[in-house]
Amino acid sequence: MKYSAIAIDGPAGSGKSTVAKSIARTIGFTYIDTGAMYRAITLKALELNISDLGDEKNYEFINDTRLDFIDGKMHMDGRDVSKEIRSEEVVKHVSLVSSLLYVREALVREQRNLAKRANVIMDGRDIGTNVLTDADLKIYLTAKVEVRAYRRYLELKDAGSTMTLDDVINDVIRRDTYDSTRKHNPLRKAEDAIEIDTSSLTIEEISQMIINLFKELKHE
Ligand code: C5P
Repeated sequence: MKYSAIAIDGPAGSGKSTVAKSIARTIGFTYIDTGAMYRAITLKALELNISDLGDEKNYEFINDTRLDFIDGKMHMDGRDVSKEIRSEEVVKHVSLVSSLLYVREALVREQRNLAKRANVIMDGRDIGTNVLTDADLKIYLTAKVEVRAYRRYLELKDAGSTMTLDDVINDVIRRDTYDSTRKHNPLRKAEDAIEIDTSSLTIEEISQMIINLFKELKHE
């Protein structure tokens, strides 16, 4: 059976994960948060005290690492790490770790396998351009940097972080630059993706737009 797939890409704070989660709930698809997978591998590398995080030879541990989404939570080696992967320490290093080809190849393989087993809505940076190039629908979400940083700031504050809005703006700009200029599968809009600027839209509005686009496609 061929399953359906919706790919959602965009920079940090563009609303991808909240929108993808809401759509998954409404249309009964499985939500795959690929950013959480890169974050989990970063967390494990930090826990293993790897001295050179930029050397891909240090990442063979990925082959013995279990990543599962259970009730929407990221589990690594059987442990719920959904809170830890949002820590400042992980945020600081995740772009470096996810720029490594060895790490990307392993996680992309896993992501493609997940899409073979269920209808999925997958969000990340390279889903439309690399992971699921034949997705039924590709969406690229953008928003002004101040809006994206403010959304992240509220999320982090909610989770107990003491980062200031300025810290978050700087972090978002740093990650965007890193993610879109890296050598392997940089953040880019796929040619056949539909771009939506989410700056002045609510989560419900964006989700509904995407669901309508998907329904139109399926009735063609
Ligand atoms: O989406 P999220 O902010 O959780 O992603 C964390 C980091 O993981 C991104 O800044 C990016 O470096 C990396 N990432 C990636 N490719 C993806 C998803 C995330 O490189 N498909």
